[in-house]
Amino acid sequence: MSILQFLSDSLRNGVHRIGQIEIQTNDSIDQIQLVHVDDIPLAAQPDQGGLKVHRDPEAARDLSTFSEDGEYRFTKGQTNLRRGWLMELSSLDELRRALDLFYPAALGLLAAQKEGRLEIEHLRDKLNRQTGMYRFARTISDAGAQQLVREVCGPAHQCAKRILWQLDATTSLEDSDASRYSGIPGDIVESEAFPLLCREACNHFVAECRKVSKAEADRAKA
Ligand code: SF4
Repeated sequence: MSILQFLSDSLRNGVHRIGQIEIQTNDSIDQIQLVHVDDIPLAAQPDQGGLKVHRDPEAARDLSTFSEDGEYRFTKGQTNLRRGWLMELSSLDELRRALDLFYPAALGLLAAQKEGRLEIEHLRDKLNRQTGMYRFARTISDAGAQQLVREVCGPAHQCAKRILWQLDATTSLEDSDASRYSGIPGDIVESEAFPLLCREACNHFVAECRKVSKAEADRAKA
């Protein structure tokens, strides 16, 4: 199934949310509006509440790179998408391009998952592939890695992704708010949203593993 087909089927089945973005469309999916969930009431006003209107899907790149306060977003799954914009698009392909910039690969991962072909990389495999200064991340203890999931992942730490990976093929993540998170921020029923998936630890998580590994090694030497 193509991503466009997956997207079209999902919209027709009532999905209208991904991450912090509300997707509003007509039946033929050729009049589409994207808006930050917190700006939905503004978008409904006659003058669109003063939101800045964009018609080029490529604008999603700039809109999603930095948060409101100018902070670089280490993963586009962070729950600090800036507000104040409205995107008007006129085709399914434009919508796919915009969403792929707001939430890179999210639709592709979901389509692959639906067809049972999504490949997941567990943390140990990811760390064992690291080279250079990040090689040290490999030595993190299981306990250190489990704790790190609690301290780095999940909406309490501004990440809205649903974690699919484990420590390794036989070691699950311990139960926590982060490990059981749905990938759907806000209070919307699951059948109306695309969840954001995390199929492998992000670079930020790997960098934190390196710091914990070093701290563990220093403690062992002391
Ligand atoms: S590893 Fe954690 S912080 Fe990084 S993207 Fe995945 S869930 Fe988010």
